[in-house]
Amino acid sequence: MISIEYLHEILTKVLTTPSPSGYTHNVLEIVKDTVNEFKFSVSLTKKGACVIEIDGKDPSKVIGLSAHVDTLGAMVRSITTKGYLKITPIGNYMYQTIEGEYCKIITRNNKEFSGTILTTKPSVHVFKDARQQKRTDKEIEVRIDEKVKTKKDVENLGINSGDFVVFDSRTLITPSGFIKSRHLDDKASVGIILAVLEYFHREKIVPKNTVKILITNYEEVGHGLSFLPEGIDELLAVDMGAIGDDLTTTEYDVSICAKDSSGPYDFHLTNHLIELAKKSKLDYAVDIYPYYGSDASAAMRAGHDVPAALIGPGVHASHSLERTHTDALVNTAKLIISYLTQ
Ligand SMILES: [Zn+2]
Repeated sequence: MISIEYLHEILTKVLTTPSPSGYTHNVLEIVKDTVNEFKFSVSLTKKGACVIEIDGKDPSKVIGLSAHVDTLGAMVRSITTKGYLKITPIGNYMYQTIEGEYCKIITRNNKEFSGTILTTKPSVHVFKDARQQKRTDKEIEVRIDEKVKTKKDVENLGINSGDFVVFDSRTLITPSGFIKSRHLDDKASVGIILAVLEYFHREKIVPKNTVKILITNYEEVGHGLSFLPEGIDELLAVDMGAIGDDLTTTEYDVSICAKDSSGPYDFHLTNHLIELAKKSKLDYAVDIYPYYGSDASAAMRAGHDVPAALIGPGVHASHSLERTHTDALVNTAKLIISYLTQ
């Protein structure tokens, strides 16, 4: 089975490497180097996504397996006259979820500056209506940790519109097995897949069919898996399972998504995954995610003619301060392994 120790180690490495959509090259180098260690064939597409190929016992069928390594983030929109940064979001989230967060500004020539995301009325000692203030593009700004008083001062640092703003991931694995971090969507799944590859390499496991693993880099902005390599017959996207309201997935389960905003996933493939989860006695839940789309949806919209399904570890407070449990990662890994080997 997968090594929990390795899973935690690689997951921490991936989670703490900033990679908002559009700035994913560093984390993809880590993924590539990791896969190279396991001696599987790996390459990057022109768009920068990672394709890993594993020969199967029967190469007449090719399974596509995907996860995305890009995350939420922000970009500098403008510099205020007082030397603060206005931002524009990358991906879909509430400003409330990043308020107070430490961040890094990464310039186009790779200089880095630290800062904090605050509202324009960040002190209750001064602003009577601070509590009632809205949180929109206008009210949110970045305080840079440099002695800057004017727009010119900020420009002199080399910071400009279009620079990336990345959030502190706050990654923490507790003794009770919880993984608290931003960007578990979908780095949890990338970690699971790398742990499965480590297991395949260590135990010399050959999958039933040829597998092409796609680690994509534009999912959060809607076009991660708009490309699909030649010959893929079936596609399984691994992305976080939504939790909350009347959904049944927990932080301990592998979630099997029957339908999301993009519509129902493939009937037969989804049934097959449910059967495998039952047979392997996994903790699993079948759910619909009301406000969600995946790379499988992106592939469908791009016009690819393949049946597609979606599974992933249950993640609480997604696109906010996320948390999952090692159990969910293990259940997801086991379902992937059953799917690829049986
Ligand atoms: Zn995702």
